[in-house]
Amino acid sequence: MSLLAIGTVAFDAIETPYGQTDKIIGGAATYITLAASYFTRNVNLVAVVGDDFPQSFIQLFKDHGINTDGLQVKPGEKSFFWSGRYDQDLNSRETLVTDLNVLADFDPIIPNAYQNCEYLMLGNLTPQVQKIVIERLKKRPKLIAMDTMNFWMDVAMDGLREVMTMVDVLSINDEEARQLSGEYSLRKAARKILAMGPKTLCIKKGEHGALLFQGDDVFFAPALPLEEVFDPTGAGDTFAGGFIGYLASTDDVSFENMKRALIYGSAMASFCVEKFGTERLLNLTQAEIKGRVQEFVRLAQFSV
Ligand code: AMP
Repeated sequence: MSLLAIGTVAFDAIETPYGQTDKIIGGAATYITLAASYFTRNVNLVAVVGDDFPQSFIQLFKDHGINTDGLQVKPGEKSFFWSGRYDQDLNSRETLVTDLNVLADFDPIIPNAYQNCEYLMLGNLTPQVQKIVIERLKKRPKLIAMDTMNFWMDVAMDGLREVMTMVDVLSINDEEARQLSGEYSLRKAARKILAMGPKTLCIKKGEHGALLFQGDDVFFAPALPLEEVFDPTGAGDTFAGGFIGYLASTDDVSFENMKRALIYGSAMASFCVEKFGTERLLNLTQAEIKGRVQEFVRLAQFSV
């Protein structure tokens, strides 16, 4: 099934206890589409960059079978830039810079060939743009998932609350769930957030795994205990890309299948953090992904 993904395609500068990068390629839609490309060959990108964005990376999207017809390149403008610094334990990070640049007046154009997509992933970006994308699709996709972050809760809460009423799945981290709901208990937070619109909520907890809530059902996926975590940037988006990519490839949006999708998303995220930026996501094999998913199965399997 076809997947449309929107989000930032960006330059990132990252500081972790293991090193520091100059501007490298990042952005929510970059991680989402790369991760999803391992599940479905029908991934369609909508995003905007400036003319400072390297052609070689646009080619990398294409090499992964990602359709870039919806990627606008704005002459004379600069790409979105984000810079962040991680703590010693890599679990919390501080945003140092968010330069919207070309994102500030992004008008998403949906190519005709993208209409009728069955799955829509609204990656992290301006809630107003997320809403416009839903409105510009002539037919509502079978499943709309959405990601966001504290930045948009701080600067665009009303817009964010409005898009939340239009989506099926919301994916956020534990800190963001607490900020959005005003509740510390994630169980209480989930109940409040589900009442805001989405039928399903995924709360990512970094190295402590991820929770999936729907109605009164809860499912937990652990994160794989890795020997080395290099850079958590993009893990949440990679998770989302694996999650929706798996749903699109199986074309089954039942809660049972979403549990499997949560594991596939977690497996993809576990690769992402092993190297800086997108590096580890560029050359994965199906055998590696299968092997990683089996590690998850073994990790949580027990008999009673
Ligand atoms: P994650 O680590 O999964 O939360 O995602 C990190 C990616 O999100 C980076 O590659 C950034 O370019 C991108 N990003 C950071 N801040 C924002 C923002 N306010 N809106 C959209 N994307 C962002």
